[in-house]
Amino acid sequence: MKIGFIGTGVMGHAIVEHLIAAKHELYVYNRTKSKTDDLVENGATWKESPKEVTEESDLVFTMVGYPKDVQEVYYNEDKGIFSANVTGKILIDLTTSTPTLAEEIYQTAREKQATSLDAPVSGGDLGAKNATLTIMVGGDKEAFDRLLPIFKRIGKTYTLHGGAGKGQHTKMANQIMIAGTMTGMTEMLVYANKAGLDLDKVLDTLAGGSAANWSMSNYSPRILAKNFSPGFFVKHFIKDLKIALEEAEKMSLDLPNTKLAEQLYEKLANQGYENDGTQALIKLWWPEGKKS
Ligand code: NAP
Repeated sequence: MKIGFIGTGVMGHAIVEHLIAAKHELYVYNRTKSKTDDLVENGATWKESPKEVTEESDLVFTMVGYPKDVQEVYYNEDKGIFSANVTGKILIDLTTSTPTLAEEIYQTAREKQATSLDAPVSGGDLGAKNATLTIMVGGDKEAFDRLLPIFKRIGKTYTLHGGAGKGQHTKMANQIMIAGTMTGMTEMLVYANKAGLDLDKVLDTLAGGSAANWSMSNYSPRILAKNFSPGFFVKHFIKDLKIALEEAEKMSLDLPNTKLAEQLYEKLANQGYENDGTQALIKLWWPEGKKS
């Protein structure tokens, strides 16, 4: 299958590696070209713009940072995906973006005899590396069914949640949950440390009880090893929490816990840690990640 992939950062790069390994024909583009170098060495073909990627491909994936990046990649007048002939193609946005933009892309795609899926993922950098992502999809069932062999290659769970935008809404539900597990894990570590407990023992014990959760099992070891590299960027989590809060407001919902998590992560970013991984939240209590 001829597959285009735009955005080869932490997540996209690992996903493209799986698609190359599955013997697909890959066409790649990224804002910083060097992040595709080894992919090209492994058989992918570099293209100069999203437009050129689209012209070569039957399926076009995007996995960029922010909604504004998605907007640019799809709608740039000269170089965007929609400036190519997209007839018959399926456009899949894996970026965590807004439900509204997903609906707009779907409408534009339909007007141009194409279709689109919003398909944000969960599972982190390791999920992308190990092809164990959870994929949350919005769009038409026919397009979803055609994508199943690809989703199976890069993920372990893939579910169609409804029409365009419903994948992004599901991802927002996911991020609202993660707001709780990240703040909970951080406060748990700070408390256990201050109480003089052996943190490794505490983690082992909690992992066997009802406090077990993904954030704790994946990020606590990184915190104890003082590894704050992303993983999942602080700046991207702030983006997600803001989208979740905006969507909640549109539905007249108040989410105080999500609001507080957003404020804590803003505080962390203001201290200069926006390019750290989300586990860096602990630095609000342990400056530079050191226990005290
Ligand atoms: P990342 O490393 O920053 O990757 C994004 C890539 O998109 C970068 O390489 C960036 O180029 C490229 N890009 C941005 N705008 C572009 C444009 N206009 N044209 C071409 N390329 C463009 O971030 P990531 O961690 O892979 O995350 C990507 C998305 O997945 C985000 O929406 C994030 O919220 C979501 N996500 C991440 C995780 C995770 O654990 N990391 C998990 C689930 C979902 P440059 O190289 O020039 O910056």
